[in-house]
Amino acid sequence: MIEIQNLSMRFGNERVLENVSASIQEGEVVSVIGPSGVGKSTFLRCINRLETPQSGHIFIGGEDILDPGADVPRIRRKTGMVFQSFNLFSHLTVLDNLTIGPVRILNEAREEAEARSHVLLRMVGLGEKALSLPCELSGGQKQRVAIARCLSMRPKVMLFDEPTSALDPTMVSEVLAVIRRLTREGMTMVIVTHELNFARDVSKRIFYMDEGGIYESGPPEQIMSAPQRERTRVFINRLRSFRYHIEHRDFDVFEMNADIETFCEKHFFSRTLLQHIQLAIEKIVAFYYQRGDSGAITVTLSYSETEGTVQLQFEDQEAPGDFLTDAEVGDESAMTLLKGLVRDIVWQPSPKGNRITMTLNESGS
Ligand code: ADP
Ligand code: MG
Repeated sequence: MIEIQNLSMRFGNERVLENVSASIQEGEVVSVIGPSGVGKSTFLRCINRLETPQSGHIFIGGEDILDPGADVPRIRRKTGMVFQSFNLFSHLTVLDNLTIGPVRILNEAREEAEARSHVLLRMVGLGEKALSLPCELSGGQKQRVAIARCLSMRPKVMLFDEPTSALDPTMVSEVLAVIRRLTREGMTMVIVTHELNFARDVSKRIFYMDEGGIYESGPPEQIMSAPQRERTRVFINRLRSFRYHIEHRDFDVFEMNADIETFCEKHFFSRTLLQHIQLAIEKIVAFYYQRGDSGAITVTLSYSETEGTVQLQFEDQEAPGDFLTDAEVGDESAMTLLKGLVRDIVWQPSPKGNRITMTLNESGS
């Protein structure tokens, strides 16, 4: 369905895409991940013909969309693109947002366009909102209208550029659910996303972009759990871990707990596990400061999907001392409680300080 050959794209002297080739089958769903600024949006914009690359070919359904003689407006309609921001016409009702394209551009009869728009709105769960104005909708609803509006133009391919990153966290899943539904209907899609769990569920392949191109591609299991190349590994590990620097004993514990909660929700940790993590951190940090330490502590929470474990690590810069024995003597009952939460707990002194590593049970039980 999409065949990309030796695509190169520069902005001035900046080379963004260099000799990128890929092919995407009809009905295939590909997720694109990677650090910010590597050219993920540019890649999609080339496929949508919003950019004019310096060299290469992009065939969609056999037609080279970069052919200098190509009819750009017509070619752009082969693909529907959903952006971070919804770009709805604010003065038009939801229904008119959907019908305006088919009526004005595809010359469909209004009645037919409206009938189909109602079907599409029901498909994205917004059958009741046909006569609402965009300002009456939540962010998640607006994004679902934007998806329906794209579909109303009957594209062959749907492109999504971080469709959930501008949304309030509570609205992410309703939008992902709609995209998931499209995958079941056999739509060919390319989705730039930071939602790794979602990418793993819906896509057949993942492109990890870096260094001017598709640095590694493969099935989700490979990219997520056994990446073959160094930069992919670093990127995936960073997304799977959470780090917090505690500067001194009067740190903002509410901020830290809120950040931990966001991380846990993203990885579908249970509420119990979240509470255990927060409790374990609270106890360890209290031990540190009870011992009279005053320096900074770095807390790292990381999740290993392959091993099904959650690890908590604490690092300080203090002189090494047998931390766990001290903690036991200092507050035996707190230490007993802590040991009940974890599978194991290890203290390692090093010339640069102490490191405590604990493994929590993933189930949180
Ligand atoms: P990503 O989506 O992966 O974050 P982008 O495709 O948005 O990355 O951008 C890749 C690079 O291209 C960035 O360095 C960005 O500054 C540059 N870039 C993107 N669009 C333009 C533009 N219209 N003009 C100049 N530079 C651009
Ligand atoms: Mg982008």
